[in-house]
Amino acid sequence: MAKRKQKNEKSMKSYRLRIYPKVVEVSKGTHKTVDQTALIEETFDVTCWFYNQLLTIQKQRYAEDINVRVSRNDFTKLVSAYRKANPRLKDVDSTALQNTCVALVRAYDNFFQKRAKFPKFHKRRFTNSYTASGRIAKTTGKSSIHFTNENGDYQIRLPKLGLVDIKGSRFPTGPIKTATITHESTGRYYVSVQVERTELNQEKPLHPVSKRANNADIALTGKVVGLDINIPHIDFSDDHPVKRLELETPEEAKHLRLWERRLARRRLIAKQKQQQLDHQVQAKLGTDSDWYWWESKSYQEAKQHVAKLKAHQAHRRDLLFQRFTTQLIQEYDTIVVEDLSVNRMLKDHRHAKHISEISPNRFITMLEYKAKWHDGKRVIRVDPKFTSQTCYDCGFVMGTEGTEKLGLNVREWTCPKCHVHHLRDKNAARNILKRGLDSISEES
Ligand SMILES: [Zn+2]
Repeated sequence: MAKRKQKNEKSMKSYRLRIYPKVVEVSKGTHKTVDQTALIEETFDVTCWFYNQLLTIQKQRYAEDINVRVSRNDFTKLVSAYRKANPRLKDVDSTALQNTCVALVRAYDNFFQKRAKFPKFHKRRFTNSYTASGRIAKTTGKSSIHFTNENGDYQIRLPKLGLVDIKGSRFPTGPIKTATITHESTGRYYVSVQVERTELNQEKPLHPVSKRANNADIALTGKVVGLDINIPHIDFSDDHPVKRLELETPEEAKHLRLWERRLARRRLIAKQKQQQLDHQVQAKLGTDSDWYWWESKSYQEAKQHVAKLKAHQAHRRDLLFQRFTTQLIQEYDTIVVEDLSVNRMLKDHRHAKHISEISPNRFITMLEYKAKWHDGKRVIRVDPKFTSQTCYDCGFVMGTEGTEKLGLNVREWTCPKCHVHHLRDKNAARNILKRGLDSISEES
């Protein structure tokens, strides 16, 4: 489904925003309450069931060799027939059911055009979604799915759910064609809205960009610094003590390791189960079973848990980065860092596979955009080559003239030429600063 290209896809733009379903009162004369979370989950259930119903019918027709393509129109009629017969279907968004039909038609199209395997039955998983369509009024051009803003609180109006609380940084102004509601394995709910891209519907910030009060009046300090960034450690070229960012608590790390081990084990067990099952069904019916290993409940549970823990960790890391980069920008006018985007392999001690692997660049990017907010503040990137291997005092490079390169675990060393004793990362930070200052003087 992901690979499909629609004719109008080019002109569509989608926006993904987090939503916060809750219990709301629907005031239509009567005081009816809607539990939005429960209704979303119910819609997942119903659309899943409905998809399988349709697939059963289609399979029968296929078996009877009725070579009739079912049109969307036929399905629309089918939806209303089903809704009359089944009260459960009446309670959920009818456009979600229609989009379920569309999804099946598409699955068949993909099969016939050899883009995909024969459609299979859907099963409820921990990650679920359904798609609602907006009805666009001919007179006003306004969609039934739209954003509202009351007293600064943003909400989105969705079929059957009513107003759902929403959070995001920008939102489109054009009429919304479809909205896909997703429940992710982290437990969060999101909505992806699709709007037609026109010249009229430019993006608008969801929240007015706050005028950072201290933007203009951050004081210049005249201080310069070089940073050797080895997340979670950051070494400074000046007397600032080494900063250690607490990316995760020991309990969190332990918890994550435990669940990652469980996930691996459960994946293995589920795969074995699939093999056995396929084998049995193959012997009996000559086809593969309808069950897939990733549908295993215990596997999904572990997967969800690991995703949650990782999201939590990433959030914590971002907060720390935000706080610390702000401090740095306040304290220093010029900050020199290594340009890790050039080639991080040049810096020998950064091979470890860890969350820190992706972090330094994020940290540097944050510093850079914060520096741009203030006149007189800047971040300079320099070539990371040999910053750890070069003696700051005399410029001797380890690994030359018959000396050996410093190994990864050498934290302190004495220069064989000038005999100055160095702390490895402090020395590197000072080299980084020197390179930065050299590059400035070259410019001017
Ligand atoms: Zn030296």
